[in-house]
Amino acid sequence: MTKADTVWGTTHNGLPQPIRGTEGATILGPRNVPLERANPDLLAPPRTDHGTVPNLKFSYAAAHNRVLSGGWAREVTARELPIATELAGVNMRLKPGGIRELHWHKEAEWAYMLAGRARITAIDAGGRNFIDDVGEGDLWNFPAGIPHSIQGLEEGCEFLLVFDDGNFSENATFLLTEWFERTPREVLAKNFGLPQKAFAALPRDVDYTRYIFDGELPGPLASDTVRSPAGEVPKSFSYRLSAQKPVQVAGGQVRVVDSSNFPAATTIAAALVEVEPGGLRELHWHPNTDEWQYYIAGQARMTVFASSGRARTFDYQAGDVGYVPFAMGHYVENIGDEPLRFLEVFRSAYFADISLSQWMALTPPALVQAHLNLDPKAIAALPKGKPLIVR
Ligand code: MN
Ligand code: MN
Repeated sequence: MTKADTVWGTTHNGLPQPIRGTEGATILGPRNVPLERANPDLLAPPRTDHGTVPNLKFSYAAAHNRVLSGGWAREVTARELPIATELAGVNMRLKPGGIRELHWHKEAEWAYMLAGRARITAIDAGGRNFIDDVGEGDLWNFPAGIPHSIQGLEEGCEFLLVFDDGNFSENATFLLTEWFERTPREVLAKNFGLPQKAFAALPRDVDYTRYIFDGELPGPLASDTVRSPAGEVPKSFSYRLSAQKPVQVAGGQVRVVDSSNFPAATTIAAALVEVEPGGLRELHWHPNTDEWQYYIAGQARMTVFASSGRARTFDYQAGDVGYVPFAMGHYVENIGDEPLRFLEVFRSAYFADISLSQWMALTPPALVQAHLNLDPKAIAALPKGKPLIVR
């Protein structure tokens, strides 16, 4: 290591370098500087990282996008991020009036509205229907097999969809137009009690082209009402998460949503976490299931402790997906100067986490001290509640 290397370090021409104190050296060969800048903890990991931990990050910016007349959709599934076997995500945009075709699928669909407004429709097996408008910060949950649609309203919309199977694909849903195309015309005629010529104008060779297509803006919600003799679905498929009073803590705030406050969401639970600059979503783990993350705003780093001498640190920014395999310890730190906002999503009926700090606080101090040689007074002074986010 020469003095020039040190100076070159992380500052020369502003280029990031894999240099950590006296260790490492500059890159001489080909490089992708924007990617290196976005992943400083991969380029020069903290010394505490160790061993082989699978990739736990995939950005929607690196996902294939399906671009159609009414908008677009890109997915991050187990095909993009192989460790993510429990949940898959889709980022979708609909133009004003743009329609995500009437369809259904084998997986439950949980959604977070990122921007704009949408009208959503569904019916359940009891013939009870659901039609509602949702806006930024609202959720919906359609249980597995329930048919539904989404349409962009005046300002269009963008949302995140999460499915309770990592191998889900948006390209494999059951589409209304495709079923019509794949059914003999005489069977359609018999089924609907209509002459065959009634189906003369069906779209031909749909080749999934409806999927996301241009549509006319619908009228006000009241004008789109269809009354079912069986009434409406008993548990609303939508939930106003942004209207929920958050749990305020020292370094930010948290809103938890699961089947206890959104009864329709029986298979997917979530927390919307907001961490102030410098704040830390405390060291913790989840005793029930993997965690699938979506970063909405800000910059974060997370180290995942995988046991067996393994730990790995990743950096995340808006539009990234993160993943924490079942039971692995982790923290999420806001390393930017803007508020950090992200979703923790779980394939579970309920949200649960174990706080490292609370565990130590509720264990005999002498026992904790015997492990860590910490000052017993400091152990005794730990808060006995769950800090969630510290600063
Ligand atoms: Mn769907
Ligand atoms: Mn977590």
